[in-house]
Order: sequence, then C-alpha cells, then structure tokens
Amino acid sequence: GNDTRTLTFFDGQWAEGNPGLIGPRSHAMWLGSTVFDGARWFDGLAPDLELHCQRINRSAVALGLEATVPAEEIVRLTKEGLGRFDGKTAVYIRPMYWAEDGGYMGVPAEPTSTRFCLCLYESPMISPAGFSLSVSPFRRPTPETMPTLAKAGCLYPNSGRAILEARSRGFDNALMRDMLGNVVETATSNVFYAKDGVVYTPAPNGCFLNGITRQRVIALLRADGVEVREMNVTANDFLAADEIFSTGNHSKVVPVTKFEDHSFQPGPLYHRSRELYWAFAKEFGRIDV
Ligand code: PMP
Repeated sequence: GNDTRTLTFFDGQWAEGNPGLIGPRSHAMWLGSTVFDGARWFDGLAPDLELHCQRINRSAVALGLEATVPAEEIVRLTKEGLGRFDGKTAVYIRPMYWAEDGGYMGVPAEPTSTRFCLCLYESPMISPAGFSLSVSPFRRPTPETMPTLAKAGCLYPNSGRAILEARSRGFDNALMRDMLGNVVETATSNVFYAKDGVVYTPAPNGCFLNGITRQRVIALLRADGVEVREMNVTANDFLAADEIFSTGNHSKVVPVTKFEDHSFQPGPLYHRSRELYWAFAKEFGRIDV
C-alpha cells in the first residue's frame, strides 16, 4: 500500500506522500502509457543501479515515449532522494515515465508530452523462505502483440490475472509460458532450475523480461565455474529438476519450494547464486548518498 514513507521527485521538486500527478485527461490514465523500473537500496547497497536507470530509458523509447532524463541524472536524483531516508529500512527505487497527451485519435502516446517521476519508498528486504509455483493457463504475449521489451505497466494485468488464478488454486505465483508452450518466467521474476550440477534458464526470445538480476546471476555463476545453459525449457523439465529458484530486483534470489505437486528444497546452486549475488553487491553495489 501507500502507507510506508514515500518520497517522489517530480517537476524539479521532492514531495512526501503520494502526490496526484495525473488526471482524467492524462493519456497514461486512459490508455496506460506508463513505463517503470525497480531497483533496491539496502545496507547502503544499490547493486546495478546504473543498469536499472538505463533500462527505464530503453523502456520509454520502446513504448513511444521520450527518455527525457539521462540515466546518469536518474542515478544522481536517486542518490539525492535516498539521502533523505535513514537507511534502516530498505528502499524501493521506482523511476517512471508516462504520457500526458495522445496523438492520432488520441491513441499513440505523444512523445513531447512525456512526464518523469522518481518514487522512493520504504520496503523491507524479505528473507526468502521460498514460494510455490504452478503452471499458468495464461501466456506471455509475443513481441508482435505487445511492446514486450518495455517494462511497461500495460504488461502487468496479464501477470496480475495469472497470480490470482494461481492463488485460487493455493499457489503463490504462476509459471508463465510463451505462445509455443516454453517456460519463460514467473509472473513477477525470472526462473532457473538446476539438474545434475548444471543450471538451466529460458533463453531470451522477446517474450519475457531478460531481467537485470537474471543476467547478473548468470554472469556470476559462470565466472564461478558453474555451467549455465540458456535454452528452450518446458514445465516437464522443471518437474524433473533438482532445484528451482527465481531472480528479480525485489528479493534478488529466492528458492521455489513447491512446483505443482512436487516439493523442492533450497539447494546448493540456489545458495551459491544468492551468496555470489550478495558478495557482488557488497563489492560493487555500495553507493554514496
Ligand atoms: N520478469 C518480470 C515479469 C518482472 O516483473 C521482473 C521484475 N522486474 C523480472 C522478470 C526480473 O527483472 P529484474 O531482475 O530486472 O528485476
């Protein structure tokens, strides 16, 4: 909810709380022309902050908006805002762009009407007990049907209905497939499994978000001598796995403890991924606010 300390930069100023930034005539409210990114600040660390600030500008362009704030400036604003938090509670870093006006028939976003805000709010880092996962009857759209390369708000009602459907059957999250039936990600994160000491994860195919945490964990595992195969994977591959885990900026690396009717234990490759990520964050993720 909006109940934790929130600070938002908009139009040159920082405001506390939840300022009203769009109205009924805003294109973003009518047709959902919003993009966002998500990064974390915890224990003085904001791993890969620059990559998140670069990605939101790519998302803006992919949705037909203008990337009006250079990535380095988003980083600088983030540090400025974080300096106003005490750092005891982790902070979620959420830059956003949206369109105020539409073009032809009001439908395409008018790029010159792009607005930017940077929302920072307290959100504790969750220690990963693990979560349960079930194959969703809903699919991820193809790049021909949605701007899948943008981290756009309009892609998330699909994730939302997948989670609700999974929860109605007693699971926490949904394993999403593409139109061909290959597993691509969960409704909110990327997904990996391990089998006989090798780590497997879906190969980027334009139908899922090639997450920044995903790419970081793959690089860290490979540098540590673990074989990671990016390839087409199916739900049956996950059922036959030794372990399953998930990556995302929110909680970093989290084990899957149940998939369909199979139970899983957090395994050695999950632990190694999480430890490697934290070692990386401590070595390279410290920021001065
Ligand atoms: N897939 C989806 C659908 C997501 O919402 C997220 C979270 N942003 C991810 C994957 C993980 O991406 P990242 O590691 O960049 O946060």
